[in-house]
Amino acid sequence: MSEPRIAIIGAGIGGLACALALQHRGLAVTVFEQADALTEIGAAIALSANGTRELARFGCLPGLEAASCEPSELIWRGWKDQARIAAHPVRKDNAYRTAYGAAYFGIHRADLQKVMRGQLKGDVVRLKHRLTGVKETTQGIRLDFAGQDSVIADIVIGADGIKSKVRDHVAGEGAIRYSGTSAFRGIVPAKDLPNLPDPQAIQFWMGPDAHMLHYAIGPDGGDVNYFAVTEGPNDWPDMSKWVVEATRDDHLSAFEGWDVAITEMVGQSNMFARWGLFTTKPLRNWHKGRAVLIGDGAHAMLPHHGQGANTSIEDAVTLAELISQDGLSDMEALLTRFSRLRRLRTTAIQKSATVTNDVLHLHDDADLEARARRLENFPQEFGWIHGFDVKNGLDIKTAGRLRL
Ligand SMILES: Cc1cc2nc3c(=O)[nH]c(=O)nc-3n(C[C@H](O)[C@H](O)[C@H](O)COP(=O)(O)OP(=O)(O)OC[C@H]3O[C@@H](n4cnc5c(N)ncnc54)[C@H](O)[C@@H]3O)c2cc1C
Repeated sequence: MSEPRIAIIGAGIGGLACALALQHRGLAVTVFEQADALTEIGAAIALSANGTRELARFGCLPGLEAASCEPSELIWRGWKDQARIAAHPVRKDNAYRTAYGAAYFGIHRADLQKVMRGQLKGDVVRLKHRLTGVKETTQGIRLDFAGQDSVIADIVIGADGIKSKVRDHVAGEGAIRYSGTSAFRGIVPAKDLPNLPDPQAIQFWMGPDAHMLHYAIGPDGGDVNYFAVTEGPNDWPDMSKWVVEATRDDHLSAFEGWDVAITEMVGQSNMFARWGLFTTKPLRNWHKGRAVLIGDGAHAMLPHHGQGANTSIEDAVTLAELISQDGLSDMEALLTRFSRLRRLRTTAIQKSATVTNDVLHLHDDADLEARARRLENFPQEFGWIHGFDVKNGLDIKTAGRLRL
């Protein structure tokens, strides 16, 4: 029997993870990526145990350890001062690895892609391949690319992110929703933040209608990556653009009156733009014919649990495992099983990330003590996210119970 022709669209986090997972199971794959290089500047990713345990299985751990930084603690503070509201050790006492069986890393997105691509065997990533069309034919599924030859595959895995072209084929257009929130991002050298307590920790500073998240990245934690979220604008000005111009004053005025550590951080940034935060609405189908979605294309979520990339890795490994177990002879059964396994968990995380937005943005007259008690209980409440292991989530009968 000839090898199945497996095509992945997108060499982002989910696409590379899927290629690694398929190769790891002895299956050949080709990845088609629109960009001419995998080097998104200025973006960072926090990888949690549910993602890093899979990457470790592909041999990525030494590369990740060399390129990233493990936070000392997870800390929450209020917006007006530096008092700790709740904290949990991460690297300290090896607490996180002991609890969840794998590491938590802050890493530049381009470094993560470099480490993942470095573990792929052979030259399987085709850059400068922008997918423009998908069509079922009697020979297989035809993939059309701008300015390149078309390709026929037995299965196409859409790992092409929130603006997925494969999703347009599977579920139609119009799946993206603006969340009513937006973010400012920046990367600032830790040495330029003299007022920042615990610069090596991952920290949330919570205030009315806004929060600041930051963590150190790079091998020595020398840079602090921040992600500052505010409510609004109510309507996004241009749905064809994710990022709109903003000024230094826009950044500063959103955090006026906040603790000096925050105004100092925001004031140091040179990335003056506002990112809209978008999600995908729940899709009726994640697959159609020979096409299937993973990652943001299927379930883009707010980033407040840091789970978009991590759940994309989980999707990728689950799909690769099912393909290697069942083959492609009954595509409908295979892809139905895949989406049933993944839908419950990813929808739960999507919803929880939305609730978390509100929890982080409480006003001062809300019950802040109740919030503090919840945050104290964070490992118990959210262990189901970090402790997840794909190999325990491959049975439909138990997949729902893993939420608990
Ligand atoms: C500001 C911000 C911070 C975040 N922080 C975190 C975090 O800390 N932790 C976390 O887990 N997640 C985080 N996320 C989410 C995370 O980045 C995404 O969920 C994750 O990258 C999704 O992986 P993916 O493979 O589905 O898509 P992506 O990683 O976006 O990759 C999609 C790829 O497909 C390519 N592509 C798109 N269209 C085409 C086409 N037509 N033809 C060919 N190629 C195409 C793109 O160029 C891209 O390379 C964050 C997101 C944002 C916006």
